[in-house]
Amino acid sequence: MKRTLFAASLLALTIWGGVATSAAQPSDQASVPGVEWASVQSVDVQAINADLEPGKPTVDVGLYYPSNLHEGAKEKLPLSGLIEEFRNAKKVFEPTGVQLNLLFVKTGEVDPKHLAIFASKWETDMPSGGYGNMYVQGAVHPTEMSEGAIETFQAIVEPSSDNARTVYLVALQNVYMPYYEDLDGGRNWAPKIVNTSGLSFPSYSYADTIPERIRGVISLTKHDATNKLTIAHELGHKLMNVSHEYMEVSPQHEIRSDDGLMLYGSGTQIPSGEDGRWHQERLLLSPYLYRTDEAGEKVWNENYQEGGIYYDPIYGEYAVQFD
Ligand SMILES: [Zn+2]
Repeated sequence: MKRTLFAASLLALTIWGGVATSAAQPSDQASVPGVEWASVQSVDVQAINADLEPGKPTVDVGLYYPSNLHEGAKEKLPLSGLIEEFRNAKKVFEPTGVQLNLLFVKTGEVDPKHLAIFASKWETDMPSGGYGNMYVQGAVHPTEMSEGAIETFQAIVEPSSDNARTVYLVALQNVYMPYYEDLDGGRNWAPKIVNTSGLSFPSYSYADTIPERIRGVISLTKHDATNKLTIAHELGHKLMNVSHEYMEVSPQHEIRSDDGLMLYGSGTQIPSGEDGRWHQERLLLSPYLYRTDEAGEKVWNENYQEGGIYYDPIYGEYAVQFD
């Protein structure tokens, strides 16, 4: 039965992506026409960045907000709400010494077929009933971004020499992520789809299967009007390279809690040390971080050595061994 469902899903995905991908190779940047972006005049980027200090660890973040989002999508994801979330994210990371530099807020008309996407390829998203923790499994079988998602982000993210070191927040209408639900203790699995609110395409899950130029993308589809923490939380995935975990809570158990930025709730803590699962230490080692030297040049952290898996050698001892 699983095989049949797989085939049906793949067929659906092929039909869905057929028109878009038959003529162009999605991973070939030149074949995807770029979006014409313009800065949003109503957002004062300079004012938002006024507190930045040279020499401190910094992350560059760009925000793309399509002008042709469906009215309903704009209501769920108002630009003002995203700016509020970004300001909030700055405060969340402040205690760690890491500052967020807003590069730009841009708008433009995006090809409507790019506004709703499947995040990943069904057949690469393996059920988690294997041996070893989810990070070990993610390194052996990384999830792969779908062709449609690759094409979308290639069209949206403008070419820049710092592409691979920049985080791009991309507002979209729907980003669907396939996963498998354990029905009976590991024998039968049901393929399911979650309509995500935010997706960070973290490298502990995708490793280096995403073209490097667009590896920094984070999709946003729903503003968190209560806690206003979606951007901070998704940045946490991207920059600390950890899943939903906090202190003694391992990532196998997703729970609601008001402790910890990486659990679902109002928590904002980014703990340090072994008890804190090295969150702060991992953050400070992120390849998306740089410090500006006296000449004003960006000095980047070391890049991932093994594609950015959770146990990538750049983290040294700052990785938790667990079952
Ligand atoms: Zn999350």
